[in-house]
Amino acid sequence: MEILSRPMRTVRFCHPQLPECAPHYGLLHPAGAIERLDGAPWLGGQPTGAWFDGTQGQLLAPCLPGKIVCVGKNYRDHAAEMAQLRGDTGVPPEPLIFLKPPSALAAPGEPIIYPPQSQRVDYEGELALVIGRPCRRVPVAHALDYLFGYTAANDVTARDLQGKDKQWTRAKGFDSFCPLGPVIATELASDAHLSTTLNGKTVQASSLDQMVFPPAVLISYISAVMTLQPGDVILTGTPAGIGPMQPGDQVGVTIDGIGTLTNPVVRGL
Ligand code: ZN
Repeated sequence: MEILSRPMRTVRFCHPQLPECAPHYGLLHPAGAIERLDGAPWLGGQPTGAWFDGTQGQLLAPCLPGKIVCVGKNYRDHAAEMAQLRGDTGVPPEPLIFLKPPSALAAPGEPIIYPPQSQRVDYEGELALVIGRPCRRVPVAHALDYLFGYTAANDVTARDLQGKDKQWTRAKGFDSFCPLGPVIATELASDAHLSTTLNGKTVQASSLDQMVFPPAVLISYISAVMTLQPGDVILTGTPAGIGPMQPGDQVGVTIDGIGTLTNPVVRGL
């Protein structure tokens, strides 16, 4: 069943006019109004005809993934800077995957909490893929049929703990270390531009076509390891320019056609 017409931009939101401000999925219309859907759009959610003023609502992470699969060193320039920073071996021969827990999700505008265990917390601006249909072992040629859309993510990383632990669960898994949003766009140009800003200054800038393993390859590769479910998220890796954030900073990840995911950084206790 698919009567929603593409292209579209979907959100999750709460609004003072909704009972108990409960979260709902919605369609974001070009003028900024949100039409409520009766379910997740990748599960057949349909428009309800109920409209809300987007400026009075609050956007949430645009999906609730059962798992967040991330890809390491998927841009050549970033692989090179990691080789310099830590003596890594450069671009991996196959996609290098790891997981972030869903408890790491943060909404647009929600603070990234700087944990007391770390002295260096980095931003990583990334394109995120949102899966639309269950998939297992899909060939590359059909992989994009299983994609619902695209959003922006920040793969926040405690860089010192990443080096210390050798594997990345703690460094990448703190609460609030996966800001996601603000919208899911069902269409995206393959050469769309991604940029990250720290307090308004551009620190990362790349075209998405600079990825080593593009979205179709990643979906195919990951689906041969674990079944991907609707609403699951894949973070596709970060370009060069990673660097630390401090409490009080404001970080933004902008992707053409998706918008800007902005989060403040605050010190955790
Ligand atoms: Zn990353």
